[in-house]
Amino acid sequence: MRISYLDSAKITVSMTQRLYYHDSYLREFDASALESAGDGSTVYLDRTAFYPTSGGQPFDVGTIAGVAVREVVDEGDRVAHLLAAPLPTGPVACSVDWTRRFDHMQQHTGQHLISAVFEELFTLRTVSFHLGAESATIDLEGGPVDGRVVSAVEARANEIVWENRPVAVTYEDAGTVEGLRKASDREGTLRIVSIDRLDRSACGGTHVRATGEIGMVSLRKLEKIRQSVRVEFLCGGRAVRRARADYEALNRVAQIFSASLDDVPGVVAAQMEAGRSGDKARRKLELDLAAYRGKELYQNTAPGPDGVRRTVRRATSGSLDELRALAQNFTAQSQAVFVATLATPPSVLLATSADSGVDAGQKLKAALSEVGGRGGGAARMAQGSVPDGALLDRVVEKL
Ligand SMILES: [Zn+2]
Repeated sequence: MRISYLDSAKITVSMTQRLYYHDSYLREFDASALESAGDGSTVYLDRTAFYPTSGGQPFDVGTIAGVAVREVVDEGDRVAHLLAAPLPTGPVACSVDWTRRFDHMQQHTGQHLISAVFEELFTLRTVSFHLGAESATIDLEGGPVDGRVVSAVEARANEIVWENRPVAVTYEDAGTVEGLRKASDREGTLRIVSIDRLDRSACGGTHVRATGEIGMVSLRKLEKIRQSVRVEFLCGGRAVRRARADYEALNRVAQIFSASLDDVPGVVAAQMEAGRSGDKARRKLELDLAAYRGKELYQNTAPGPDGVRRTVRRATSGSLDELRALAQNFTAQSQAVFVATLATPPSVLLATSADSGVDAGQKLKAALSEVGGRGGGAARMAQGSVPDGALLDRVVEKL
């Protein structure tokens, strides 16, 4: 099919003949570069086997006359090939990157298969399809999707792979076509992709010729997206590579715990629980220790002429929170004032006993405001920060 016509600007525009419609296995072909655009690196051919992004399937890459194809765009009548360098018009030898294309064929045909099985077993409709670089997804509507549903669909889809059912392309009239999984809103001739005794879908993508070539079908993550559920899936080479990566990751965890793969979930859960109870015990010991240290510090601090015991702790690093327990226990005794500073970030803490006559929040706020610092707190405990570490001693003096 090749139609030429004149538009109002009297420029001859030829429809690109799409070779991938008729042979998705064609990877080497000769064509004629008819025209270029931009700096000459956007090229139009008379015919192409390069698939342009559409219907959820990404574009092909490869070479045209040895120049790398960076992107392929469907412009309606024509297919634009965006190349790495300008190319003159004339005859060209073209090569489609087969690794990428065949991967897309596996995922795309797998999508028809998976969508049809979700529909057949659970009347779940596929409302969208996305084919990404790592994984592909379909969005389902029509009911809940859980682990049991996914497991049943995965098992059935793989059975149909093993049956190696033919996948055929036919052209049928939109007015009389029957049995499509999803009605098409296109008119005229439709391209129908069928999986024998399972599915008929109007689709312009590239597909494998039998379900066996889809390879292993693996359904993975489920994600709720508004009223639909997104199901991640991997087919063929992707499924095998992912299974290998999963195995290696799980095996590393198993080795760390000296456990078998199947025991890993139980062992990890037990370790997490042991870690949590260890943390709890440690926190209790820290509090007990802080109480002991607070009392000891109090006893070793001589009272001033006014009977108030004052102590200043200077830390270079860590956090004030670590000093809070000590401060609380120091000022839990009578007539006590506790000041702590931290060099980085420059900050200060003030704690006072109820009978010290000092309101920690007000006192600290006043001292900080004189040096451009910020902070405050309650009557018994307050903390704040200063813009520069050199100011810490001035704040301590004022306190
Ligand atoms: Zn398709």
